[in-house]
Amino acid sequence: MKAEPIMHTKNKKTNAKENAAVSIYDVFRQSADANTRPINLTVGNPNLPPPLAYYDAMDEVLLEIRNQHWNGHGYMVEEDPFGLCKKIAKNLNQRFDAHFVPKDVRITVGATGALDVITKTVLDVGGPCAESPDENEVIIMAPYFVEYVNIVKTNGGIPVIVHTDSTFRLDFEAIENAIRPRTKMIWINSPNNPTGAIYSEAELKRLAQIIAKKEKQYGINIYVIEDAVYDTIHFMEDEVPSLINLHPRLFRVNSWSKSLSLSGERIGYFATHPGIADEETRTALRDALFLNMRMRVVHAPLLQHRILARLPVDCVTDISYYRQNIQSLYEALNECGFTVMPPQGTFYLWAVLPFEFEDETDFRPLAMAGTEPLLYLPGALFGGERYNRCVRFSACVAFEDIQRACDKLRQLICNGRLLTPSDRFMCK
Ligand code: PLP
Repeated sequence: MKAEPIMHTKNKKTNAKENAAVSIYDVFRQSADANTRPINLTVGNPNLPPPLAYYDAMDEVLLEIRNQHWNGHGYMVEEDPFGLCKKIAKNLNQRFDAHFVPKDVRITVGATGALDVITKTVLDVGGPCAESPDENEVIIMAPYFVEYVNIVKTNGGIPVIVHTDSTFRLDFEAIENAIRPRTKMIWINSPNNPTGAIYSEAELKRLAQIIAKKEKQYGINIYVIEDAVYDTIHFMEDEVPSLINLHPRLFRVNSWSKSLSLSGERIGYFATHPGIADEETRTALRDALFLNMRMRVVHAPLLQHRILARLPVDCVTDISYYRQNIQSLYEALNECGFTVMPPQGTFYLWAVLPFEFEDETDFRPLAMAGTEPLLYLPGALFGGERYNRCVRFSACVAFEDIQRACDKLRQLICNGRLLTPSDRFMCK
């Protein structure tokens, strides 16, 4: 299969269909009608509150700051004042038999902040990683998290989209064909948003072998971002496999947005692999990462930083809640003729529409009709027109909303199946 470079806007002809829903915020605007009670399965914004231990730690921190005689809200001037980086490095070392040191870890403004700072640093012309100063290509596996392409483009990179196969596994032939002398980075996200796929150890090994082969062939370094924001939300016995022991030019990105339901608090981190480069380059890289972070956001929110440093690293939300939501929605979707695979992780369901819908714009008026519009994200947002017949449902909502969604789906598909296309048009 062929990879598709996404050109910078100025070089690209406008594709009306691809741009039909340019942002998830458009979907919210469509639903802003005071007379309706939307069933909102759009964003991965966890409804489940953080565990009580989080609030206990917050109470302790607030009391401490209130009672101390100096200002607890100043700039963070020390490297790791509360020992959070040390804690993360230790946890990664235990889980993956690795050798991270606290200096390898940087606390960021969510995983988005981490992705942004790393991309800016790696693609920066003249920076410590820069080899080819002209065009930097970043390989992204599709379907992908909607902001990936924007983060790459706003940092001057050219996203090259490589589609996964029909069951959302890595397509090795396509990846191998997509790597070129100007390839700078590859982004991997497992458990995957939106498909829920988790890449196996064997798949990651094969990927690492291909990268090593291509690096040697072209005499280049390829930096991998391993986006692990859903690594605690999975339905497997074992740890989610990682590339940490397979490819040293690696940044591992994570956040507490999903694992602790802190998406609005904007706190995450990245860990630079200790084997990423020789000592001198590693130091230069660390400095460049730190500089880019300071120039963008100074540092991550201090209060959250303090609270998280007090919590055990394995303190996470109870995922049985997501399991129940996903199971119910999965059953309803199957019953209604969607093609959907049970996710291995995350709280998303990625579904292909029943046969009678040509594409998502055909389904949308039905879903939006009535006093309880069903909101989801159109598949095209996650990788272009190829996903026009797909939709993503986010199941991190109250169970009552999942039940309402199931009822609505059964009603509109199972009953609506009897309607002709022109009747359906009347529903608009
Ligand atoms: N990466 C993936 C795969 C995501 O799904 C998300 C958010 O949904 C993010 C990164 C952004 O996470 P954060 O809220 O920590 O910035």
